[in-house]
Amino acid sequence: MLFGRQSDGARKGWCRKDSGRRPWRLSAKLLIASSIATVIGFTAICSSVMLDMRRGEEELARQTLENLASGIDADISRNIELYDLSLRAVASNLMMPDVRGVSREIQHLILFDHAATAKHFGVIQVFDAQGKLTHDAASLDPPPENRADEEYFTVHRADPDLGLYVSRPMVRRGAYSIVLSRRITDAEGGFLGVVVGSIRFSYFHDLFGRLNLNPGDTITVLRSDRTIIMRTPFDLEIIGKNLSERPSWRAENLKADAAYAGVGPVDSIPRLYVRSGSTSLFFVVVGKPLASILNLWHREVLRIGIIMMVLILFVGGTTLFLAREIGRRAEAEEKLEELATTDALTGLRNRRRFDSEIDMEWRRAARGQTPIAVLMIDADRFKAYNDTYGHQAGDQVLVGIAICISDSVQRSGDCPARFGGEEFAVLLPGLSAIEAFAIAETIRLKVEQWSEDPGVTTVSIGVASMTPTATSNWPDLIEAADRALYAAKANGRNQSVLAAMPQLALVA
Ligand code: GH3
Ligand code: MG
Ligand code: MG
Repeated sequence: MLFGRQSDGARKGWCRKDSGRRPWRLSAKLLIASSIATVIGFTAICSSVMLDMRRGEEELARQTLENLASGIDADISRNIELYDLSLRAVASNLMMPDVRGVSREIQHLILFDHAATAKHFGVIQVFDAQGKLTHDAASLDPPPENRADEEYFTVHRADPDLGLYVSRPMVRRGAYSIVLSRRITDAEGGFLGVVVGSIRFSYFHDLFGRLNLNPGDTITVLRSDRTIIMRTPFDLEIIGKNLSERPSWRAENLKADAAYAGVGPVDSIPRLYVRSGSTSLFFVVVGKPLASILNLWHREVLRIGIIMMVLILFVGGTTLFLAREIGRRAEAEEKLEELATTDALTGLRNRRRFDSEIDMEWRRAARGQTPIAVLMIDADRFKAYNDTYGHQAGDQVLVGIAICISDSVQRSGDCPARFGGEEFAVLLPGLSAIEAFAIAETIRLKVEQWSEDPGVTTVSIGVASMTPTATSNWPDLIEAADRALYAAKANGRNQSVLAAMPQLALVA
């Protein structure tokens, strides 16, 4: 007994569902894609601005270090030049014949009168060709001294064209100094000795002390052969060391007037190093830790990074929320649409949906030149049933018939529908007349067997199948099935009749 059972035909999913066209899925995907594109775009712009900022910070630091290096360079050059003038004056005065003839006191006065005597400059001394001290700016009668073995003596003896020589850092007269020396040459170019002076380290300490340096900043003064003359922060260990002996440090790392970012030769702190142009005697390298150059930038990156993360989370959250909303609304619309196309009593598709399905399937069949079949089903003597058992019982019979139809139609493209009143229609795409007739008979027999009193509830079925042609349309198919249904009624009901098509006519 099937009374009371609700038809689940609609839920079984007959009638082709247009699963391919779900515009809400597309719009949710579009929303997510555009949000991702926006986030990627903003991230790219922010990254580019941040990188520009970093380059700007590095450029600013480079310029500042360049100015510092050339300022220090200029100060040292000026002092060396000044001191060199005194050494030149002593060397040339010594060669004047008149000076040789006068007393030691007068000689002392003439030789050292113009000698630079700033507080960081050491005493000027003259040594003869054997390295013996002959004149000392600090004393008329200096104790005997011989410097024939000193580097600043031997280099001048070996090379007449050396000019001013800057020594490695050394202790001279009790103070760390660099020694400046010049050769004394006679008219024929013969070696007569050297004139020697010194600049004490206190000069560099004083010079660097006046600068406003940050922790980690370095200033290094190097001789042209890359011997470290002076460095701040001061470390006696590395003063006098030659960088060319350090395998980890290559000369091309720091060419003249160039900058280098990385680890230097002395410690392992990565810095931006800038080298001054300078003279051929020495050069200055100033360094600033990369961490302190990029300190401000790092803070900005962190700040903007956090803001970006919050924005991305917000955009992501909003997008997901909106996408879910779109989905929910669309599903609700889909449900509404389904309700609007479903028959409330039987759960089958209603006439409106049937019309749109047959329209679609007809065009599909026309394209593929495949047959399409329709069954028109009508309850027999239903008015009498209603009159006998009441309208409610009549409704239950309609539900029962709907279930019999649904149970007999299994393919996904098939579309059983309530056509109106006690009439049903089934759309069977791809089925020939014989196949459709077989299904009609299955339905008819099912209804016949289903009822407790077979004499009471039966159906008549009109069957039609055709392959669409240029001149035909789907109402022709329905009309043919309708005509077959009338024939079934006229023939005594509870039977299936195949429409009389040009090729086929079959009556069961
Ligand atoms: P035939 O065998 O020639 O089809 O006879 P019939 O009585 O079924 O045909 P007729 O068109 O004269 O009557 C149809 C009846 O179907 C009339 C109406 O009372 C009944 N009917 C139509 N819709 C419904 C419905 O939704 N519920 C119920 N209970 N009855 C309905
Ligand atoms: Mg009828
Ligand atoms: Mg009827």
